[in-house]
Amino acid sequence: MIQPKITVIGSINMDLVTRTSIIPKVGETVLGESFHTIPGGKGANQAVAAARLGADVTLIGSVGNDGFGSMLKEHLQKQGINTEYIKTVEGISTGIAAITLSEGDNSIIVVSGANNEVTPALITDYEQVIAKSDLILLQLEIQVKAVIEAVRLAKKHKVPVILNPAPIQKLPRDLLLQVDYLTPNEHEQTMLLSSIDEDELYDMKEKCIVTKGANGVTIYQHQKETTIPSYKVNAIDTTGAGDTFNGALAVSLSKGKTLQEACNFANAAAALSVTKLGAQTGIPTLEEVETFLG
Ligand code: ATP
Repeated sequence: MIQPKITVIGSINMDLVTRTSIIPKVGETVLGESFHTIPGGKGANQAVAAARLGADVTLIGSVGNDGFGSMLKEHLQKQGINTEYIKTVEGISTGIAAITLSEGDNSIIVVSGANNEVTPALITDYEQVIAKSDLILLQLEIQVKAVIEAVRLAKKHKVPVILNPAPIQKLPRDLLLQVDYLTPNEHEQTMLLSSIDEDELYDMKEKCIVTKGANGVTIYQHQKETTIPSYKVNAIDTTGAGDTFNGALAVSLSKGKTLQEACNFANAAAALSVTKLGAQTGIPTLEEVETFLG
């Protein structure tokens, strides 16, 4: 398989980033230093990662009928992503994250907006897109009910599923049992496994690919825990490292690589991503990862 078909189902946001030396108190106005709009959202970030790393990517999601919505769709198209199944909804804003950065501190307001319009019914409408995919990649910035429907359809058509359980929330046990791979970080894994019965714990652990920042990634196979170390790099900005990891893992697994090989490839892509500022801007191309790996 030369170019795997990956369908990402998830969030699309515009990050509104303000840098300021003074954080305003309630009722106060201050002059900020700079302002940038930066494409984000876990769904979009992971779709961009999979596309740059060589997959044929379709993103299923939703934006508002506003300036940010059209800018984000155009941006995703420029990344080579199929945006045909991104719905534009009336009367609700595109998802945003208003981020204030001030000397190492940050405060963030996320408005899900149109991301909440990714409903189970919308997913059902796109059954054929799911059926024709080599792999489905999901996160939790859309309705959990839509995630459940996507997993149901993927299983119906025997398409493998990676669920990146972020932001972490309580998930139905059935959903966890159905997905093929879970990619929590350490904190998310503790939360995930806390609701699992002792007799199912082992099966659940075998699905987990636990990312550990600069310490790499841990997998569990045949009763054995293996840690695949990360690559030593000069980390500048780790935002979105997890998204790059997930996009890369999806590409490599859908090319038929072993779990160990896929984790090594994803570690390399994610390591390169932390050497540059920004979540999406830092995502490397396939060529860059191959050169890095030698
Ligand atoms: P985020 O939410 O910021 O995207 P995350 O918590 O989901 O991150 P991490 O476990 O922090 O994910 O990182 C994902 C992967 O990125 C790691 O498994 C590793 O491969 C790579 N990575 C992260 N930080 C570093 C680093 N400092 N050096 C090298 N690789 C890193």
